[in-house]
Amino acid sequence: MHIGWIGTGVMGRSMAGHLLDAGHTLFIFNRTREKAAALVERGAVWCDSPADVAATCHVVFTMVGYPADLRDVALGSMGLLSTMQPDGLLIDCTTSSPALAVEIAKAAATKGIASLDAPVSGGDVGARNATLSIMVGGEKAAFDRAMPYFEKLGKTIVLQGPAGSGQHTKMVNQILIASGMVAVCEGLIYARACGLDPERVLQSVSGGAAGSWSLTNYAPRMLKGDLAPGFYVEHFLKDMKIALDAADEMKLCLPGLGLAKQLYTMLAAMGGSRNGTQSLIKVLEAMSGMSGPGNLTDSKSAPRG
Ligand code: NAP
Repeated sequence: MHIGWIGTGVMGRSMAGHLLDAGHTLFIFNRTREKAAALVERGAVWCDSPADVAATCHVVFTMVGYPADLRDVALGSMGLLSTMQPDGLLIDCTTSSPALAVEIAKAAATKGIASLDAPVSGGDVGARNATLSIMVGGEKAAFDRAMPYFEKLGKTIVLQGPAGSGQHTKMVNQILIASGMVAVCEGLIYARACGLDPERVLQSVSGGAAGSWSLTNYAPRMLKGDLAPGFYVEHFLKDMKIALDAADEMKLCLPGLGLAKQLYTMLAAMGGSRNGTQSLIKVLEAMSGMSGPGNLTDSKSAPRG
């Protein structure tokens, strides 16, 4: 089966690799060609634009960074919908806005093309191990058609409702993670300040009622001073903004999410945009006059505003 894949970054390269391993012929495009080189070496076919990918493939996945990237890839002049044939299927795994998912689904439907928003959770580890949770919005028939591919990428695959529902579910996920990351940092700082061995503390608390994916996967990285992405701070800020904007429209007050967004904004201002989200520990350390291992990435080239 010919499958298209756009976006071969931290997540996309592992996910696309699983479809190659499953025996599919993969047609790929990425903004920076070098980042697709490893997949091409393994047999994927390079294409020069999303339009070229969609001209060859009936099923195309996207895993790009931001809503603006997705708009360009799906709806732009050299985008997927410019060449995809009727009966095609677009599957977007980017964390993007629910409103854009609805817009793409409507534009696709006018050409007889099905579209799913299918953002994922489980991090770089989940992408590598094909254990992602995949949260899907769209028509049931398209979901059923995509299931054989989803099963190569993840373990928990749930249709949440019509177009946009996958992205709304991902926002719930990000709201849960946001306050949780603050709590992980606070717990580790407290443990260090009162003279406990933080690694031994993790042995006690990770498997109890306070356990969480973030605690298990990110706290050990924090303790080692390993601030590498993983999940970019700038991407998490993008997600929290989407969630806060949607909450604002619904007239919701989400103070935990608001606080986490402020702390991550401070982290970006300190030079951490291109670090992993676990580097939030640097902000909490600074607020308590403490310092730990690991240095933030210089953010001179990181986008602001
Ligand atoms: P990433 O490493 O930045 O990968 C995004 C890729 O998309 C990059 O290779 C980028 O190209 C490519 N891209 C962007 N715009 C493009 C365009 N117009 N045409 C073609 N390619 C384009 O980010 P990631 O960590 O894989 O995350 C991808 C998405 O998944 C984000 O929305 C993120 O929020 C979400 N997510 C991430 C994680 C995680 O733990 N990393 C977990 C769940 C969800 P360049 O190579 O030129 O930059």
